[in-house]
Amino acid sequence: MRVIQVPVGELQANTFIVFKDNSKKAFVVDPGADIEKIWSRLEYEGISEVTHILLTHGHFDHIGAAAELKSRTGAKVCVHARDLSMLTSNVASLAVFAGVSIEPVEADIVLHGGETIRAADIPVQVLHTPGHSGGSGCYITGDVLFSGDTLFYMSCGRTDFPGSDPDEYHNSLHNVLGGLKKDYTVYTGHGIKTTLRAEFRSNPYLIK
Ligand SMILES: [Zn+2]
Ligand SMILES: [Zn+2]
Repeated sequence: MRVIQVPVGELQANTFIVFKDNSKKAFVVDPGADIEKIWSRLEYEGISEVTHILLTHGHFDHIGAAAELKSRTGAKVCVHARDLSMLTSNVASLAVFAGVSIEPVEADIVLHGGETIRAADIPVQVLHTPGHSGGSGCYITGDVLFSGDTLFYMSCGRTDFPGSDPDEYHNSLHNVLGGLKKDYTVYTGHGIKTTLRAEFRSNPYLIK
């Protein structure tokens, strides 16, 4: 499996293009902004079909190019139920607070956590990890975990936004992610990748 990281927008949110080796089918995690940068990378990798757009949450910096990517490819947009309203509201997505406007996009698959979806012929497990936002989630496939703004390299996401909940966040980090049995390469919503084991060893937010 290939994972291509494409940082986009002013906040350098990470978009990921994920596909099986030699496949022309991909899914995209968090097309946050800059559709042309994402599009040229899809073309460069020889991707001709995008089956799903998996959103780790509904904040504007993770969804900004979702509408255009969906209209170009027909990909199904997936988001957790509790962040659904963010896809059609510049207030809920916090876009207005950053002085930007996001093209609204309809979700095709509303997630609840615990389900497994098949995207680009790859099984992807959905984890609900609320706290940064109510609908924040992580996606697991193979030995890879996409954490969105739930977990960063030696850091974690903010909990001072509308919809944030520090108590839920604590549970998501310590019980949901902490309950995972094996190690994963973690591709984060901003910045460099890490591993779950390294984070539980050294991330100040995860050390008990
Ligand atoms: Zn966020
Ligand atoms: Zn973010």
